[in-house]
Order: sequence, then C-alpha cells, then structure tokens
Amino acid sequence: MTRFAGKVAVVTGGAQGIGAATARRLAEEGAAVAVVDLSAERAAGTAGDITAKGGTARAYGCDVADYDAVEEVFARIAEDFGGLHILVNNAGITRDNLFFKMPKADWDAVLTVNLTSAYNCSHVAQKYMVAQKWGKIVSLSSRSALGSRGQANYAAAKAGIQGLTATLAIELGPFNINVNAVAPGYIATAMTASTAARVGATAEEHQSEVAARTPLRRVGQPEEIASVVAFLASEDAAYVSGQTLYVNGGAR
Ligand code: NDP
Repeated sequence: MTRFAGKVAVVTGGAQGIGAATARRLAEEGAAVAVVDLSAERAAGTAGDITAKGGTARAYGCDVADYDAVEEVFARIAEDFGGLHILVNNAGITRDNLFFKMPKADWDAVLTVNLTSAYNCSHVAQKYMVAQKWGKIVSLSSRSALGSRGQANYAAAKAGIQGLTATLAIELGPFNINVNAVAPGYIATAMTASTAARVGATAEEHQSEVAARTPLRRVGQPEEIASVVAFLASEDAAYVSGQTLYVNGGAR
C-alpha cells in the first residue's frame, strides 16, 4: 500500500513506543518520515530501521516543548524533504501522583510536554499546510482524559488535546486540513512499564491485571495505535475531522 506516496510526515517522540511504530507504519506506506525526539541519536534508531527496509526517514533532535526549536527543526525538515504534510503529535510524558501530593513542577512538566508541545508543533506545521492547502494533524490523547486516579496533570493535558483538536478542525478545515486525535487505552510501551514499576509490579504482572478488566482481555500493542493514526492521516479518513477515536480494547 502506498497511501502516503509523496507525503512528508513528522512524528514527534518517534524514538520508541507508539511513535516509533507510527513512523515505521507511515514509511511502509510510502511517506518520507522525519523522526523527531529529544535525542537525535535515539531517533536515529527508528530512522535506521526504516531506511534498512528501503523506506525514507531522517532523525532530528528537538525538545518539542521549545517553540523556537520546533520552528527551526520543522524548517529543516521541510527543506530536507521538500514539504511537510502530516504531523503526528505523539511526544508525551507522565509524572503520576495523587493530586494532593503533586508538585507544581510535575503539573507544569506534563502540561508543557503533552499539551503545549502540540500547540508548538501544530502552530508551526499549519503554516506549511495552509500554504499547500493540504494537511493532516493527528495528536495522541489518552483514555485517561476521562479521569484517571493519580493522573490529574496527564488527564488535563490529554483532555486539552481533545479540545485543541476539535477547535483546530474548525479553524483549519477550510484549508483542507484534517485534525483528529487518538485516545489509546493501555499500550505496552516503556511509558506503561514505568507505571508498573511505580506500583511495584513487573510489566507482565501489570499487563495481566489490566488485561483482566479489559473487554478484549489483553493490553494493546504500539502497532495497533499506529494503524489507527495512519488511517486518520490518510485519505481513507478524508471526511473525518475534529474527532477523538478511542482505541482501548473496549475498556470504559
Ligand atoms: P514512550 O514514553 O514510550 O515514548 C515517548 C517518546 O517521547 C520518548 O522517546 C521520549 O523521549 C519522547 N519525548 C518525551 N518528551 C519529549 C520532548 N519534550 N520532545 C521530544 N520528544 C519527547 O511513550 P508511549 O509510546 O507509550 O506514548 C506515546 C504517546 O501516546 C504519548 O503522548 C502518550 O501520552 C500517549 N499514550 C500512551 C499510552 C500507553 O499506554 N502507552 C496510552 C495513552 C496515550 P525520552 O524517552 O528521551 O524521554
């Protein structure tokens, strides 16, 4: 399948987990992929996997919480690849704690990396997309947006992604730009492994416990989010905009 032939995709937080799976999926379907992460060296791992399989990718180091850095790196990407068509706002962090114990610094860090970074990247990317009258923005929200014990900061940021998505769809729609979000449930990545460690469980123990209360009786894999991001970034979803699609094995 070459749904993304001729398209340039930027995937933030692409060094591992859902971002790496998404970068690989978009590249398999013909996109030239800019793999952006805090560490260019770690992003180069994903880019290297893609090029080893005959795809097109390059690694870029960038803290997406820094607007000026995003502006500089996106300009470099557009110059290197000749455009910028698809943005996947995937970079994210957690700093879980019960609200009464949550330090202000952890509130700020989570809001900045999960939500303000989506402002930064979308604000810079839309300039390219508006000019070419074509664009797709897909951002990672979370099932936690509906409320999640110990995650007031993360839930607020991920709910913010949904509001940002709905609003950008209204404002950017007239420029042929689709804006959507994906809200995963529990996906087996380093992020959820660290949650397991925090509650004193191994990743396997934590996953079995979550699987038992998930209707499909298993946790999700990064590739199962990547395929939905790819759908929303493709012309298969040409009339879908302003939506948040929950991908959570049927969990409530
Ligand atoms: P991971 O922690 O495995 O990967 C996130 C990546 O983002 C890391 O490579 C990390 O780099 C990078 N990153 C963090 N901060 C920045 C920054 N400021 N600038 C650039 N890159 C950054 O996460 P997942 O793959 O699990 O999650 C991906 C997205 O999906 C996140 O937005 C997350 O909130 C969301 N999500 C995940 C779920 C899950 O169950 N895994 C469920 C619901 C939503 P480094 O490692 O160097 O910090």
